[in-house]
Amino acid sequence: MVNIEFFEKIKTQLHEKDATLVAVSKTKPSSAILIFYNAGQRIFGENRVQELQEKYEILPKDIQWHLIGHLQSNKVKYIAPFVAMIHSIDSLKLLKEVNKQAAKNNRIIDCLLQFHIAKESTKFGLSLSEAKELLKSPQYAAMQHIRIVGVMGMATFTEKEAQLRTEFQQLKQIFNALKTQFFVETDDFKEISMGMSGDYELAVEEGSTMVRIGSKLFGSR
Ligand SMILES: *Cc1c(COP(=O)(O)O)cnc(C)c1O
Repeated sequence: MVNIEFFEKIKTQLHEKDATLVAVSKTKPSSAILIFYNAGQRIFGENRVQELQEKYEILPKDIQWHLIGHLQSNKVKYIAPFVAMIHSIDSLKLLKEVNKQAAKNNRIIDCLLQFHIAKESTKFGLSLSEAKELLKSPQYAAMQHIRIVGVMGMATFTEKEAQLRTEFQQLKQIFNALKTQFFVETDDFKEISMGMSGDYELAVEEGSTMVRIGSKLFGSR
């Protein structure tokens, strides 16, 4: 069941902090997406390429679709014509492919570098040194069809507040380090995508600019 009351509440909370809501609609039907669309939401997040493609085809074209899950290079071509932001850049190889497919579509695609901040070993993402290596590479310097607009991370699945705060602070420090070293001259690099249904309030307190909320809006999966 969708929760419009929560939607109105979080909209107010985020508005005060100047943070953006990505409504994570994975596994949920288009009818549920349209309820939030009709309430004014335009940014939706999906984690699977095929599902994203299918929903793009049938839903209103002014929706800004964010890809938030792990992305394989060979699938970039399917979403490059329309995707608004990719949160899950975790290698130079993937970024190169996004740049190539964006060029074919005559677009510039906004991307976030995903970092591994959780204790769990299953979560994807770069380390700070890997990101620096990527940003120093001549291949990156030559890319004209991607724009790196910030960082993304997933905290450990836990209710331990101190641990969550430490992980969010870690991502904020990574953001600050990269901003200082690589993006001082541009305002484009400004997003910190962190916080989900269970931990978004902490994430916003720790500096999140973009929260990815699924189950609290759409009901459990
Ligand atoms: C599913 C998902 C979310 C949303 O999770 P909820 O706990 O349902 O809010 C956020 N980010 C990513 C990367 C996800 O895969």
